[in-house]
Amino acid sequence: MSDFEGLRALVTGGASGIGRATAELLAARGARVAVLDLDPSSVEKPLLGYRADVTDDTSVREAVAAAVADLGGHGVLDVLINNAGIGAQGTVEDNDDEQWHRVLDVNVVGMARVTRAALPHLRESAHAAIVNTCSIAATAGLPQRALYSASKGAVLSLTLAMAADHVREGIRVNCVNPGTVDTPWVGRLLGAAADPAAERAALEARQPTGRLVSAAEVAGAVAYLASPLSGATTGMALAVDGGMQGLRLRPV
Ligand code: NAD
Repeated sequence: MSDFEGLRALVTGGASGIGRATAELLAARGARVAVLDLDPSSVEKPLLGYRADVTDDTSVREAVAAAVADLGGHGVLDVLINNAGIGAQGTVEDNDDEQWHRVLDVNVVGMARVTRAALPHLRESAHAAIVNTCSIAATAGLPQRALYSASKGAVLSLTLAMAADHVREGIRVNCVNPGTVDTPWVGRLLGAAADPAAERAALEARQPTGRLVSAAEVAGAVAYLASPLSGATTGMALAVDGGMQGLRLRPV
């Protein structure tokens, strides 16, 4: 993989899990990286941390402007990783309107807000790439994930539409579709189970590989799609799910 020397990147939700692993990998490969997160208190050098709520347009605009200025590229941003997201469980009967608006606001509209603020800076780059964190939930038909699946289906559609809109500007737009990734998010879900260890073992047993995907493995796929190595790829979804989609399996 080519390195990111001289490139400037912005990662939303980069204080934890997949976003954190991605921010660290891009920085290790030579990028200057800014992290936007609700809670950036754990973000350490060389990463730059900014507090931002992707549901608040003013907060997003201010954080993107500050980050781009501090990254020092005279207004140029090369890479945007739209990764901030939240989960929701249950069937269509289990989530009320407020929950629907909240999850769609973070997972879908939040992505649009950050992208809107970042696009003028991405247009100045010779290697502009956007990578959205989607999910196998976008197309798998997962049980007990109606709202979350709908939000990630929208992320997939948004990725394709953005790829079409910006291809002539030299801005590539792709997404990754992770399976079940061992992050604090999944830790919280398992922690809520009656027997977390048994629940984890059952979850691992349902994976084709017999284990969960690591955040570093998703970061590797994101880095590939963000790097000039994938320069002819746009409008694509890359599964990082231990074979779930490729082997036509479905976690029921
Ligand atoms: P995580 O909870 O470990 O990290 C999410 C980060 O996003 C946190 O740092 C959080 O503070 C931040 N965030 C949440 N709401 C925000 C907001 N309104 N504004 C700014 N930042 C906000 O979760 P993760 O597992 O690393 O998930 C990251 C992304 O990966 C999400 O989009 C999620 O849907 C997706 N994903 C996760 C999995 C999985 O199994 N963990 C699978 C598929 C897709």
